[in-house]
Amino acid sequence: MAEKSFKYVIVGGGVAAGYAAREFAKQGVKPGELAIISKEAVAPYERPALSKAYLFPEGAARLPGFHVCVGSGGERLLPEWYAEKGISLILSTEIVKADLASKTLVSAAGESFKYQTLVIATGSTVLKLSDFGVQGADSKNIFYLREIDDADKLVEAIKAKKNGKAVIVGGGYIGLELSAVMRLNNIEVSMVYPEPWCMPRLFTEGIAAFYEGYYQNKGVNIIKGTVAVGFDTHPNGEVKEVKLKDGRILEADIVVVGVGARPLTTLFKGQVEEEKGGIKTDAFFKTSVPDVYAVGDVATFPLKMYNDIRRVEHVDHSRKSAEQAVKAIFASEQGKSIDEYDYLPYFYSRAFDLSWQFYGDNVGETVLFGDADPNSATHKFGQYWIQDGKVVGVFLESGTPEENKAIAKVSKVQPLVSSLDQLAKEGLSFASKI
Ligand code: FAD
Repeated sequence: MAEKSFKYVIVGGGVAAGYAAREFAKQGVKPGELAIISKEAVAPYERPALSKAYLFPEGAARLPGFHVCVGSGGERLLPEWYAEKGISLILSTEIVKADLASKTLVSAAGESFKYQTLVIATGSTVLKLSDFGVQGADSKNIFYLREIDDADKLVEAIKAKKNGKAVIVGGGYIGLELSAVMRLNNIEVSMVYPEPWCMPRLFTEGIAAFYEGYYQNKGVNIIKGTVAVGFDTHPNGEVKEVKLKDGRILEADIVVVGVGARPLTTLFKGQVEEEKGGIKTDAFFKTSVPDVYAVGDVATFPLKMYNDIRRVEHVDHSRKSAEQAVKAIFASEQGKSIDEYDYLPYFYSRAFDLSWQFYGDNVGETVLFGDADPNSATHKFGQYWIQDGKVVGVFLESGTPEENKAIAKVSKVQPLVSSLDQLAKEGLSFASKI
């Protein structure tokens, strides 16, 4: 089979790839120099839309509406944009072999691609219940959500099972967003997770109590402290019941599983240094192999602010790491240097009429402020995290753009706090005056 050769290749065609392409164009990449090779059939898009507006019963988001870079207020990069810039979008092409020594990638169809510089942007893949040997986990109408094809299958099932019952397995981002959007579709929802409260990796009990109360008011049946251990099916193979470890049985027409993800590093195992489950990079997203960069979900990078090395599975970092890597590639070609990546962690989610943002680090003591009563009309509340007498992280529900800017600033500046009681009393006004 023919071999294609490019100066730059991005493997993976998700969020990081799209933002990298824009930066390549800004840096003056020449026609024919750059290729994006993606398993997906469509040009890079803003993945977070898949668990939100993509599943709305009315006015649902559809491509080309949410191609990158609209998610951060930029212009959409339509397939034509790549063509105009001479960037090859090689879609529906899965790379199955990567040989970093000979700088060669091989696709499932046997095509070879040569590169001078490689950007790894393969993202993550979902953890599946079948990987854990859960009985009946491959029954029909059990869904996962990572790519647009997954979302399309779910949309079909929602249409086919009008007013039906769904069981959402997992209480993280996907679980919370999917439970909400299923309710909007008038589906009866039970949400099951083993932890004592939802989103335990970020939420404290106080934050979670608001969301759990709010979701219950919206008709979501929350079942905590147990897990799905098996699925029974109808004779046609479609899921019928979810069996829980505590012995309960839930009827289900649709099951959506959101139990976590794992970075897609398999192609590069043994060829590149790894750490904390990801590909280890420096502050320019350079890996241990010359001319190979890793960005987005797969990168384990120095988080300068906390003097730590971390992997971040969030969209803001995937955008910014991609831009940093491309700037670094061009700078090194020109013998110049750029500043180290200095990332302030930022996560967000939206569901129902709620919308939260979090900046910084969720470590240390906590102070909840505002009105966290799920029954009250205002949903404005938040939380500070305080370590060594300094505010290091802030969470805010229903913030205005100015308030969100203020909490970002506080997390970056890390002001000293004299008294936690005082902080609780001041609440959001503490952030607003920094
Ligand atoms: P991805 O965007 O996942 O892109 C990876 C790409 O690589 C995919 O196109 C994949 O098909 C391709 N690929 C992988 N392996 C190969 C291969 N061997 N050959 C060719 N192509 C390959 N983050 C937030 O901060 N807020 C949110 O609200 C939020 N919502 C989310 C909702 C959903 C449903 C999902 C799945 C994620 C959400 N995230 C959210 C996380 C965010 O989308 C990811 O952190 C981000 O997409 C990571 O970007 P990436 O480019 O590293 O990976």
